[in-house]
Parts: sequence; C-alpha cells; structure tokens
Amino acid sequence: MNIGRRGFLKLTGTTGLGLALSELGFDIQKVEAAAQEFKLKDAQEYTSVCHYCACGCGVLAYVKEGKLIHLEGEPENIINEGALCSKGVSQAVIPNSDQRIKTPLYRAPGSNKWQEISWEEAYDRIAKKTKETREKYWIATEKNGDTETKVNRCDAIGFVGGAQIFNEECYLLTKYARLIGTDFIEHQARV
Ligand code: SF4
Repeated sequence: MNIGRRGFLKLTGTTGLGLALSELGFDIQKVEAAAQEFKLKDAQEYTSVCHYCACGCGVLAYVKEGKLIHLEGEPENIINEGALCSKGVSQAVIPNSDQRIKTPLYRAPGSNKWQEISWEEAYDRIAKKTKETREKYWIATEKNGDTETKVNRCDAIGFVGGAQIFNEECYLLTKYARLIGTDFIEHQARV
C-alpha cells in the first residue's frame, strides 16, 4: 500500500492509530508486543501482591531507573492467573502520583488542617495515646448479678489490618492486640 504523509495523517485521524496500522498492512498484535518489549527492555521485574483486598492477586511490577513503568497481573499466580480487577490495575499510577502520601499526617484537635510529621513523632504519639487510652478505659472485672468476673480488657482500642500484611505479621499483630486487651481486630477489605 502506497500512502503519503497527508494520507497517513488523514487515516490515523479518522480511524485511530491501531486501525490505521492494520489498514497499512501491519500485524497489530506483533506491533503491540514489540512496543511492550521495547518499553520493558532493561527494566527490573519484581513479583508482588495487590494491596487492595484479601484476594491476594499476584502482580508483576517493572521498575526502570527507580521508577515503576509497568504493572500487570502475574500469569503464574494461582489466585488470579494474570488477571487484575479495575482496582488492582489502578495501582500502576500510585507510586508515581504527586498526590501520594509519603509521611504520616497529623490533625490537631479542633484543627481543620493536616500537617506532615516524621515517623518518629508518629510512633511516639501512637505509643503515648495507646498507653493513655488503655489505662483510662481498662476494664478489670465485670459484674453479672452477684458474680464478679475478671475480664481484663480495653474496649476503647481497635486494630485495622491491611491486605499487604503477611501471615506472620498478622499473627504478631493479633498477639499484640490481645496483649493490649482488645478483641476488636478488623481487616481493611471488610471496612
Ligand atoms: S483488589 Fe482486585 S486485583 Fe487486588 S487483590 Fe482484590 S480482586 Fe485482586
């Protein structure tokens, strides 16, 4: 097929590039595969797990020069066999988004503004608040009629886990929650 520059622009403008290339006799699938291969050339491949829900779909992440350039479902993962739902696919934009939150945020009582704080400050605040809350709301015993039973618990603290927490981390978190004295342990995917 012989086509000039003006004709090519007309063709791509009216039919879309993919269709235009096929009109020109290109095999679109081969063109797409070559473009993908070129894009991923020299990229480091990592396997990971989608952080959104409890399904635990596997993902392949491609990183080039410290930046995520491509993300897709992992074909060999027995859970998702290469597929990702729309939420899972959207993870691709998170690492490079200028709206991504990278430090803990703190909103003082009565304030309508969030301020960035360091991780050290966040840890200190969480530890202090946990101790204060536990001491203030500790329930040592509960009365049922004339019977007083030892319960040793704190209903004012709850834990919310995330889908990227490993089994071992879940085990430790559950132990810690019991140690603090709360039964309120929830998973982010159910909230
Ligand atoms: S959010 Fe979607 S892609 Fe992620 S684990 Fe759940 S089902 Fe899989």
